[in-house]
Amino acid sequence: MQLIKTIDEARRVIGQVRYDGRKVALVPTMGALHAGHMSLIQAAGQACDFIVVTIFVNPTQFGAGEDLGKYPRDLERASEMCRLAGVDVVFAPDPDQMYPDEPMTWVNVEGLTEGLCGESRQGHFRGVTTVCAKLFNIIRADIAFFGQKDAQQVIVIDRMVADLNIPLKIVVCPTVRQPDGLAISSRNQYLSPEERKDALLLYAALQECRRMIDGGCRSCPELIGAMQKVLGQSPRIVPDYVSIVDAENLKNIETIDQTALVAVAVMVGATRLIDNIIVDLNKPDDI
Ligand code: AMP
Repeated sequence: MQLIKTIDEARRVIGQVRYDGRKVALVPTMGALHAGHMSLIQAAGQACDFIVVTIFVNPTQFGAGEDLGKYPRDLERASEMCRLAGVDVVFAPDPDQMYPDEPMTWVNVEGLTEGLCGESRQGHFRGVTTVCAKLFNIIRADIAFFGQKDAQQVIVIDRMVADLNIPLKIVVCPTVRQPDGLAISSRNQYLSPEERKDALLLYAALQECRRMIDGGCRSCPELIGAMQKVLGQSPRIVPDYVSIVDAENLKNIETIDQTALVAVAVMVGATRLIDNIIVDLNKPDDI
């Protein structure tokens, strides 16, 4: 496995791989690798001949007062995990490689980025889409792998790729959870033992929603009310949003009659956690 720090070197090495006719997978990450990331790497290995994992804590997607400074960084550990997982290249540029100057060009997907996480994290998705566009141009993979855990993110990126005719396929991999249901996240390590218990209420709320839908409830206000009640069991949980939206256009819906995204974001103490399920009435339980 090669650890590459510069754009020129990444282009040279991956360019040769493409020239040899090999299929290149890209797994973009911020580096605090866990089982969720490893599932993307595994899916990449099944679909492609050459796996590139990018590790970059992208400053332009963090807002003022967010956790850019304290975000866990351990390149040695991440590289070793990648090596053991059969990754071919880890591309880990420093911020001044990716942003030698203050950028003047931004990629902004309208509409899809205004609600859900976009509402409380102003500018977040602009940072995500811009850095992904840059990474897509540098790596020039055939397929990029993203997690369902960040549901809005992958919908936004998919739309950017379509709108800009980027020659790349986006694959979405299921959310990996702890045995007790907590969605695995790099930010879970910020949680105290009490907060870790409270965080389980996100999963409990989504399960309650799923249970009510299975029982025939189709009213989104009713489902949202029930989920808010579950989250209300802990005074340490401050909900940001509890939403049910159309899974394609991310607009709020009143009744579940199409494929819906049920998405929850909360603050547990100082830590922001998100989770979601897709409800497709034609498909069996996905939670
Ligand atoms: P991050 O390093 O947090 O930016 O995440 C990199 C990629 O891993 C994104 O596509 C995330 O959606 C994905 N990811 C993060 N957590 C999980 C999880 N629990 N299950 C599946 N994918 C995940």
